[in-house]
Amino acid sequence: MSLTVARTAEELRTALCSARETRRRIGLVPTMGALHDGHRRLMRTTRDRTDVVVVSIFVNPTQFAAGEDFGAYPRTFGADLDGCETAGVDVVFAPDVATMYPEGTDGGVVIDPGSLGTVLEGASRPTHFQGVLTVVAKLLHLVGPDAAFFGEKDYQQLVLVRRMARDLCMGVEVVGVPIVREPDGLAMSSRNHYLSATERADALTLSRALAAGVGAAGDGAAAVRAAAEEAAVTGPVEVDYVAVTDLDLAPPSGGGDARLLIAARVGTTRLIDNTAVRLGDGATTRS
Ligand code: AMP
Repeated sequence: MSLTVARTAEELRTALCSARETRRRIGLVPTMGALHDGHRRLMRTTRDRTDVVVVSIFVNPTQFAAGEDFGAYPRTFGADLDGCETAGVDVVFAPDVATMYPEGTDGGVVIDPGSLGTVLEGASRPTHFQGVLTVVAKLLHLVGPDAAFFGEKDYQQLVLVRRMARDLCMGVEVVGVPIVREPDGLAMSSRNHYLSATERADALTLSRALAAGVGAAGDGAAAVRAAAEEAAVTGPVEVDYVAVTDLDLAPPSGGGDARLLIAARVGTTRLIDNTAVRLGDGATTRS
């Protein structure tokens, strides 16, 4: 199957018609474009686990608050299409805003993320996850995949999408894919485009703080948080939060598998990062 670009729901239906008729497994990778190796890992995983790979490219206005970077968000559609073709993607779904929000972006039916949408990222960006879940629900309905693939880079988003799929009985498998990093540890992100050379160096504070936290894992959650926070606040960034949670983003209830998460502003760019951490028994891992 060569790459098909679908701009409308009708074109998407046509592109997936034979896949559905022949009961091939469809995998969806939702993205906002400006594709990098993190996205490519999602595509590879999807290729390995499903028969037909659909990548959506849509900069979703409703997950940006007023004053955030919706207008400035990098848009590299030509290069994205080349990258998708090279990665063996079957269908790129690239709708416009009117296709995704036919009645406009205000006042319609939305998905309420619940209390988990108000903490961590949701505390700084109160409307963000409502916008994310609403657009992901629309994409799932339009594409009708068997499985959808999300990066652990946006860990809270992954947990919330998984919960939405379960709570709303969507019948889609939600697969988490590990974080892809630059050789020096910086988590790949489309927003890294915004960083000056100095800010790019300063941004390493986030991954270094995570490494410091992981280094204290044997001593438990409080020690992990303290070590990460100390490394972060002494760096040239403005820390928003450092948190240690269980895998569902609840407070950790002792030792075992947990997540260490950080958000910080580097100049005017807000970056997030996180890592797996195994608390309490001295054995540590990093993604
Ligand atoms: P975005 O285009 O930033 O909305 O991201 C689309 C998908 O790619 C989301 O599921 C992200 O979590 C995932 N993603 C972004 N950056 C990375 C990364 N460095 N490693 C793995 N997945 C990523």
